[in-house]
Amino acid sequence: MENSKALRSWLDDLKLDHPLVIAGPCSAETEEQVLKIAHELKNSDVNYYRAGIWKPRTRPGNFEGVGALGLKWLQRVKEETGMKTATEVANAAHVKLALEHDIDLLWIGARSTVSPFIVQEIADALEGTDKIVLVKNPVNPDLSLWLGGIERLYTKNIKKLGVIHRGFSTYEKTKYRNIPEWQLAIELQNKFPDLPLICDPSHITGRRDMIFDVSQTALDLNFDGLMIETHIDPDNAWSDAAQQVTPDKLKQIMKDLIIRKETD
Ligand code: PEP
Ligand code: MN
Repeated sequence: MENSKALRSWLDDLKLDHPLVIAGPCSAETEEQVLKIAHELKNSDVNYYRAGIWKPRTRPGNFEGVGALGLKWLQRVKEETGMKTATEVANAAHVKLALEHDIDLLWIGARSTVSPFIVQEIADALEGTDKIVLVKNPVNPDLSLWLGGIERLYTKNIKKLGVIHRGFSTYEKTKYRNIPEWQLAIELQNKFPDLPLICDPSHITGRRDMIFDVSQTALDLNFDGLMIETHIDPDNAWSDAAQQVTPDKLKQIMKDLIIRKETD
């Protein structure tokens, strides 16, 4: 894969005067929840509305998503709010359904990026698509696996690509849920400076009170965008409750970040 300006043309075409923002709940829970959050985010900086409908969980017994039913809810989000939609896909069947429901942005989750066969299956199913496809870093700090994911998509003629930095799991006890290891993202950025790089402070921190600082660090490191989990009732979310913020809090974060950037 060559670095070229074409890698970021999808992002440049959005002509944003702020970082790209992908926001919405960790999981789609009910139609009402999905629509309520979407309406609250409607007139904000949010460019893509995210909601996980297939949720690969590390341990069984947790909420694993509402499944294909949620795609209809995301279609309603688009019809009612005009926001573009985003969800995680973890196999070829998910890809087929997401494309049928006109999801605008698909991402490969951290637990899938670790598996080259799964990434290949997703790349094959997406061949030639003009949808945006983002690859989250693998759960472990392995730059080659991350790059391998992007390369598998690129060779299937998928050109609207980008990466999401969501931190790495570690055996050590730290203040982060997943340690950022910023140097890995910077190494990737140096190799492919035109590949859009998005930070996911929600999964890095695991706690809502640290999201602003990690977002600011990412922007200071020239990240192109942020993916922030947003919920109307974060404490009662069915997944990742501790790290989700309310729509009002998200708007405040965006306001503060942009003001700080502009006055730097
Ligand atoms: C998510 O975005 O909700 C998610 C499951 O993320 P990750 O793949 O980074 O753990
Ligand atoms: Mn989550």
